[in-house]
Formats: sequence, C-alpha cells, structure tokens
Amino acid sequence: MPCEVKPRFVILYGSQKGQAQSIAEGIAEEAEEHGLVADLSCLDQIEKYNLEKETAPVVFIVSTTGDGEPPDNALQFVKRIKKKTLPPDHYKHLCYALLALGDTNYANFCNGGKTIERRLQELEAKQFYATGYADDGIGLEVVVDPWLAGLWKAIKGALSKMASDRTAHIKENAADSAKTTSDSSIPDVQLNLLSLTDHQDCESCVDTDSKFASAASSSASAVSDLRPASSAGSSGLASHSRGSASVFTSAPQAQAVDAEVLHVELAASLTCSIPPLSESALNVPALPPSYLDVSLQEVDSVEEIGGPFNKETIHNVPISGAVQLTRGDSVKTALFLELDISACPMMAYRPGDSFNVFCPNRAEEVDNLLHRLGLQDQRNYRVNVTLRKDTTKKGAQVPAYIPQSVSLLFLLTWCLEIRSVPKKAFLRALAEHTGDSVQKRRLQELCSKQGAADYNQYVRDPSLSFLELLISFPSCSPPLSLLTEHLPKLQPRPYSAASSCLRHPGKLHFVFNMVEFPASSGRPAGRRGLCTGWLFDLINPGLVFPGKAESSGSTALPKIHVSFRPGCTFRPPSDPSLPFIMVGPGTGVAPFIGFLQQREAERQKDPEAVFGETWLFFGCRHRDRDYLFREELESFVSRGTLNHLKVCFSRDDRGEEESTPSTPQPRYVQHNLMLHSQQVTDILLKHNGYLYVCGDAKNMAKDVNETLVEMIKTELQVDQLDAMKRLASLREEKRYLQDIWG
Ligand code: FAD
Ligand code: NAP
Repeated sequence: MPCEVKPRFVILYGSQKGQAQSIAEGIAEEAEEHGLVADLSCLDQIEKYNLEKETAPVVFIVSTTGDGEPPDNALQFVKRIKKKTLPPDHYKHLCYALLALGDTNYANFCNGGKTIERRLQELEAKQFYATGYADDGIGLEVVVDPWLAGLWKAIKGALSKMASDRTAHIKENAADSAKTTSDSSIPDVQLNLLSLTDHQDCESCVDTDSKFASAASSSASAVSDLRPASSAGSSGLASHSRGSASVFTSAPQAQAVDAEVLHVELAASLTCSIPPLSESALNVPALPPSYLDVSLQEVDSVEEIGGPFNKETIHNVPISGAVQLTRGDSVKTALFLELDISACPMMAYRPGDSFNVFCPNRAEEVDNLLHRLGLQDQRNYRVNVTLRKDTTKKGAQVPAYIPQSVSLLFLLTWCLEIRSVPKKAFLRALAEHTGDSVQKRRLQELCSKQGAADYNQYVRDPSLSFLELLISFPSCSPPLSLLTEHLPKLQPRPYSAASSCLRHPGKLHFVFNMVEFPASSGRPAGRRGLCTGWLFDLINPGLVFPGKAESSGSTALPKIHVSFRPGCTFRPPSDPSLPFIMVGPGTGVAPFIGFLQQREAERQKDPEAVFGETWLFFGCRHRDRDYLFREELESFVSRGTLNHLKVCFSRDDRGEEESTPSTPQPRYVQHNLMLHSQQVTDILLKHNGYLYVCGDAKNMAKDVNETLVEMIKTELQVDQLDAMKRLASLREEKRYLQDIWG
C-alpha cells in the first residue's frame, strides 16, 4: 500500500508571557486539518531544529519584551544569528514567514520580531508571506486572526514553489546552466497581505485592518453605527444626558445629579464621555469568539496540587531579614530583603542574576471579585475548564497556566492577574454583559477607534485594573468563563540579586521600591503595586530601621515562593584585569552591590592577582534620604574594591562634588558621566573595558545612551552616525550591557 507522506513545515516561537507560544501551538494543532505536518519548537530548543539545513518553510512567532528585546527564550537564538562570522548568504536556502507580537504603548513596537527578521533578510532568507505586526494595545487578534487565516495558503504556495525550484535546479544542473530564483514569485496570497505591515499606532491598525479584513475574508474588526444610548437606564441605574454627553450614576445619587446636571459643565471621566465622542458613530473591534467552558463543582476538598508551584523549580524560602533603606520622608520607599536559601542548593546564583517572586492577588480584591460575580459561596468549589466544542477561535486551547483541579479561590488568587489593565478586546466583550445602555455605550466607546484617547487617559495611563473597572460599571456582570479567557497569567515579578554568594553564603539579597499608583477617575484611593505591596505587608511588622538586616531566629519567618531566572548575560567581565563602569541610579544599583561583593571576595582570595579599575555612577534624590547602600559603597571605596564612586543628588542643592564655578552641577548619572567623559571613553575604547547600566528603561537608560553617543563624538571627533556605530559595536561585543526595566 502506498504510504502518503504529508508535507512538513517548521514553527519556531519565542514567547515571554505565553501568547506567542499559544499562537504557535494553535498553528501546530491545526496543521493536520490542512494536510500538513508541523514541527514545533521553542527557539531555545536548539536540539529540536536546524535552520542551517532546513528545506521546509519556517514560521516564526516572536513576541517582544522589556525595551524592545526579544523574549528570554529567543535570546540565545538572536545571539547566534547575529554572529558576525556568519557568511552573508547563510540563510539563502531558508524560506520564512514571521508574526511579530508587540504593544504600541511601549517604545520599539514589535522589535523582538523585527530584530530576527532584519537578520534573516541580511542573511538572504526569503519571505514567503508578509510579516504580521500584532498590537496588544488594541488586541492582538485584530492582526493575528487574518494573518493566521492566510497562512495556510501561503505555506502551501511556499511548499510548491520550493518543490518546483528544486526540480528546476536539478534540471538546470543537468543542463549545466545556472539560474537564480527571484523573490517576485511569491504566492498571490501575500500580495493581499502586504497591507498587514508595520502598524505604528492604534488608529492606523484599525484602518488597515478594516481593509485587510476584506482582503483576507476575515472579520477582524467590525464597524457598527453605535450611536449614544438613550437616557433610560436599566438595572436600577439612571442615566442622564446634557447636550450630547452621556453619564450615569448609581440610583441613590441619581436625583441629586438630576438637579445639578443643568448647572455643572460635564467633564469626561472613566464613565462619562463628552462630544464629539459621545455623539460619534463608533468603530469597535469584532467580538472575540468565546472558547472556554468553565463550570464549578462542589467537592469535599480540593487538592491544590500543582498550581503555579512546580516544586522542582520554585522554592518556598524564608525572609530572614528586612530593612527600610530610605528615610520616612523620601519620595519613594526602598526596602531591602534577605532570603535564606540555604536549603535550596538549586538557587545558587552569580552576580547579575535575577530571580522571580511569586505573589498572590490581594485577598480583599479576590473577595470583592467573588462577590461581584455572585460566586462568594462557591469559592471552594472545584473549577473545571474545558475548550468549547463550538468555538470559532483559531488555535483555541485551555491556557497552560490554568491548572486542573483547583478551587475557584486558588484560581483567582494565584493564576489570573485580576489587576491587569483590560485590553480593548476585553472591554468589547464586557460590553455584551452590561445591562445598562449608557454604561454599555461607554464601554463600546472605550474600545472603539474614536475612543482611543479616552482609553489611554482613563484606562491605560492610570493602569486601571479589571476590578476597578467592574466597580465603575455596576451593571456589568461577566461570566467566569469570560474572565478566564481574558485575564492574563499572574506573572511572577523579577528582582536583581543584590548580593554575592561568596560574601553571603546561603543568602540572597534584593532591594525594591514600593510602586504607588495614585488615585484617578475610577480609583477613589491610591494603591500599591501588587508584589511590592504584598512584600511590604509581609514584612512590615518586622522592619528593622535603620541598620542591617537581622535574622530574627524565629521559626515563624514569612516565606515566599521564588525561582531562579536562567540565561543571564549581565555579568562582570570574565577577565578580572579589565576595567568596568557601572551606572545604576536608585534601585538600579542592586546588581552592582553583588558585583562589588564578589570582586571583594575574589581580591581577598587572591591578593596578588591584577584587578581592573572599577567605577560606579549612582544617583538618588537626597544625600540623607535615599542614598541606598551608602555605608557599604563607601567601605568598598575605602578597601580599594571600588576605585571611583560618583554620586549625584537630583533634588539637593548641587554645590558639592565636582563643582567649579563654571561647570553645571551634575543632577543625574549621565551628567556625572559627561564630567568624566575622557576616562569613561578611554576605558571603553582604548582599554577594552565594560559598561553596565541598570534601572529605569523609559528615561534613564535612554538618556545615558544619548550621553554616551555625545561623549564618543567629542572624544573621538566623529559625527553622530559614527559615534552611534561605535556604541552599537560595543553592544555587539557585549561590552555595553543593560539590565533595564520600566
Ligand atoms: P505592579 O502591580 O505589577 O505594577 C507595575 C506597573 O506599575 C508597571 O507595569 C508600570 O506600568 C507601573 N510602574 C510604575 N512605577 C513603577 C516602578 N518604579 N517600577 C516598576 N513598575 C512601575 N524592581 C525593583 O524594585 N528592584 C529590582 O531589583 C528589580 N529587578 C528587576 C529585574 C528584572 C530583570 C526585571 C524585568 C524587573 C525588575 N524590577 C525590579 C521590576 C519588578 O519586577 C516589578 O516590576 C516591580 O517591583 C513592580 O512590581 P509590582 O507587582 O509591585 O507592581
Ligand atoms: P528612582 O528612585 O525613581 O530614581 C533614582 C534617581 O534617578 C532619582 O534621583 C531620579 O531623579 C533620577 N532620574 C529620574 N529621571 C532620570 C533620567 N532621565 N536619567 C537619569 N536619572 C534620572 O529609581 P528606582 O525607582 O529605584 O529605579 C528605577 C527603575 O528600575 C524601577 O522601575 C525598577 O523597577 C527598575 N529596576 C530594574 C532592575 C533591572 O532591570 N534589573 C533592577 C532594579 C530596578 P528625580 O526623581 O529627581 O528626577
């Protein structure tokens, strides 16, 4: 009997939060329906694929993280393909398609995917299907769904083209007449898809997608003439309109508002819009198809096994010390924690490493949510989550972070980020479960193209949480399945190690600033960051201030779940004789405390060895309020471990260090760098030294980068472009390293 061999293709994904992985898995699952075999691998599973010899089409699904970085599990791949030693036609044989995921709210939209694509093209790989750039800011599905819809035809086109190329090649070889293939023979389908290109902002995404939706025969977005709702409210709510503004309030206040409304100029808020938005027809995204069935089952007891706590990689460790590093009147509160990891040999770490802290959602917020869903009496029921048989969602599957056999309470406490900022697709779906017509209209506005500015102002910028939104829209009653579909995984929070195992065996230190969210429309009172607020509450009764962390020796030390984050490249030079410069304002100094402790221990171990010069540029607001690790840094200097400590105080009178009547006083780390421009550039450009930057990505790291360009321009007397190239090559050589977040 003849054996049918199905054509194969390769899917490779790089995923930070699981979205790219889930899309890639969806494609793999669907392949068989299309008569194809998919080889699916994560980009870091190098043993599972070999691009150097690959003859089948390759589909990349790549997300973006941090400041436009590829996801952690794609970093090694990017490093490999960026090697300068690769021949210029290294991937000439390769035929690829790429879907990049990103968020237009952050700098460097889709840069993870773009980085890979740029390099593939430099190495002469050929694109068989136009790249999709999906924007999480407006809903990934707006681009992802039509991209997936067209993918199968494109893969088949690529397979047949590759087969015919091979046949032609064999014939040509036989005839000894070499001929090259050209890109112009890309299958027709991708001509339609060329509109699916780089969307720089939400508005253009919506426009382009409307066009694209028809080209790809997929309803990615819907244009509805959603006029303002009438003033009649439902569910005990009254709604009012004055002029064309729409506003609602809960019943008890309704009469008072009625009386006042004629005299008060309405201002827009989370729950209220004003013209022109309140009068506008709306383009809203298509309703995302539902795909999960969630049922609750009464059981005697639920075994909370598994959950997010894989015992092999996640360790439950005691907090053995805690110190508040900042004075009470500081702008921000920085806390220092010591973990006792002596019982976890797997947690051995090196300077520069970071680790994850697993924090739960706040108990009172979970409680509020259970009440709001009307499920407070079923908190201990077992949750069963299954895939809807009739779902039209492409590649749908039960998310891997939803464990089997856990209680509803566990699901809402440990698995779903109930603080997440609702995406537009979620708002769209919530509108369908909102009884009051004015509230429904406002939710539709917030997810519409016309309401993009209001969404940014009232939802995204203040980081409005899902629960805060629910409270502001009292007639919205979503089913549990909708939350399970739209709330993302509760992510662990990474922190940089601020210690060295050599100095503190069995201990791990870290330092963090309390994140504070101010009150806003929809948030009557400020609140703390989830993890930083939780850690603060855990240790608050035991805070030691001021002074050093003390192990209380008590058996009742609070414990937290942590895991080691592999793949760190932010390391001190492997050759200790090379000089290095550290730039870390605020809590960005954390990893450098580890670097210096390690260096000190190595110097003590081998006093005869040659150690390169060390510099630290630190910045804080006030010398006597938030100068983190001051004593320790000064003692590194006095013992010769740290050769140059340059500190600036952004909000003190700047009349101290480095001042001369003609030189402006340094305010920020980059101003101090500029003052030492010659030494810094000599270290980097003449002495093969290293420069490390840690801390805020949004402002500080960008400003430091620009300052470095200026310094290179001046010191080398080159123009901007050459200076940028010199800095880029330092990055390539891994001598300019950043560990930044924002
Ligand atoms: P959430 O409730 O998650 O809210 C955070 C959100 O608040 C962010 O999305 C942002 O929009 C906003 N926000 C406002 N101000 C800040 C701010 N100052 N920092 C972060 N988000 C802010 N943090 C440290 O304090 N010390 C460290 O050593 C450290 N190391 C890190 C190492 C790595 C590799 C990474 C990726 C991050 C690191 N962070 C560090 C950041 C840390 O992981 C958390 O993001 C931070 O503590 C906030 O967590 P949260 O749950 O309290 O805030
Ligand atoms: P911070 O206290 O907010 O600021 C420290 C100092 O930096 C202040 O003096 C501040 O001055 C100054 N500053 C403000 N804007 C600046 C700019 N554009 N350039 C240079 N300096 C500037 O810092 P932080 O909150 O501790 O840390 C910043 C971020 O780093 C946080 O988001 C934290 O989560 C992150 N972090 C990341 C890592 C990592 O990725 N490994 C490690 C630790 C911390 P003014 O306020 O007076 O303007």
